[in-house]
Amino acid sequence: MSNMIDTYDPYGIDELRISHSSRQLFKSCPRKLEFRKFLSHTGWDDSIAAAVGRALHEGYQEYLVSKNIDRAMFKMMAAYPIDMCANPMWKYSMEECYATLQKLCQSGHLIDYELATIRQPSGVVSSAIEVPASIRLKGFNLKNDGHVFIDRPNYIPVFYDMYIDAIMFGKLTGEYIIVDLKSTKQDLSKSVYRFQFDDQLLPYALVLESILGRNIDTLTFKYLVVYVDIQNPEVKLFEFNKSRHDIQEWARGLLMDVMNIKSMYNMRWFPRNGNSCLSFSRPCTYWDDCQYNDVNTRARLIKMEGKDQEDDNNKRQEMNPWITVDLDLVA
Ligand code: SF4
Repeated sequence: MSNMIDTYDPYGIDELRISHSSRQLFKSCPRKLEFRKFLSHTGWDDSIAAAVGRALHEGYQEYLVSKNIDRAMFKMMAAYPIDMCANPMWKYSMEECYATLQKLCQSGHLIDYELATIRQPSGVVSSAIEVPASIRLKGFNLKNDGHVFIDRPNYIPVFYDMYIDAIMFGKLTGEYIIVDLKSTKQDLSKSVYRFQFDDQLLPYALVLESILGRNIDTLTFKYLVVYVDIQNPEVKLFEFNKSRHDIQEWARGLLMDVMNIKSMYNMRWFPRNGNSCLSFSRPCTYWDDCQYNDVNTRARLIKMEGKDQEDDNNKRQEMNPWITVDLDLVA
C-alpha cells in the first residue's frame, strides 16, 4: 500500500490502553472495541450485576484493611447503584448486598493471610488493595501503515491495564497469593467451570514478579466467590495454582488479539458481529451510531453529538499505575 497524506484521522488516539474487559469486548464484537477505544464513545453497557459487584468490592476491600464491618457496610452502601435498583424486592437490592457482605466478612476464608503492603510511585506505602498496574507491550505498536497524519505520532504504543483486587501474604507459609472477589447469582457448585481456565488473573503474576524482583514459577490464585442473596448468601473459596506455562499461554493469546486489533486499526475497519447486538434483551449501546458503514462518518457524528464527552455518569477511571512492567510479546 502506498503512503498517502490523510487529513482526517477518525482514530484520534496517541496510545491504546486495553484490559481484560476490553479484550472481552473485542471478542464479543470488534466494532464495540472501535467505538470504545478508538472513537472514544463514552456510552457503555453497565448492568446492575456489575455495579453491585463493584459496591461489594468496595465494602470487602475496606473490611480487609480495617477489619471493621460497619465501615465496610458504609463503603458498600456509598458505592451501591441506588439509581439502578431502588426496590428492596428486586434482585441485587441493597438489602441483598448487605446480607451478602455480612456473610463475606464473617467467612474467615482468608484468616491465615494478611494484606501485603506496597510502595506507590509517590513513596506512600499502602495496602496492596485494588492495585493499579500496567504492562507495556515492548516492541509492539499500532504503526500507521499507509497513513501519514500531520498531527499524529506514527507509532501508537499499547498498554495492558489491570487492577489487582488484593495481594496477600501467608502468615504461616510466607507465600504471596492473589485474591479476586467475584459476585454472582449462579449456583456456586458450578463456579469451578467458570474459573478453572479463566485467564484474567494470569498477568497479575508478571506484576507480582516485578514487585518482588524475582521470577515466580508457580502462583496461587484464590477466587472468593459470593452468591448474592438476602436469605441464603453463600461464600466459597476456589484455589488454582498457575505455572509459567499458563502465563506464556496468556501472553500468546494477547499477542493474537493485539495483532488482529492492529490489522483492523490499519484497515480502518473493525467488523460488526451481529450476534452481539442484543444481549439480555437489551440492544447494544452503540446501535444508533453503528448504522453508518463509513468510519469517518461514525467518528464525525460521535463528535458532533458530543458522545465523546464525559459527564458524571460516564466518567472513565484514569489509569495511574503504581507498577508498569515491560513485556516483549514477540520475543
Ligand atoms: S450494534 Fe451490534 S455490530 Fe454494532 S457495535 Fe453493537 S454489537 Fe457490534
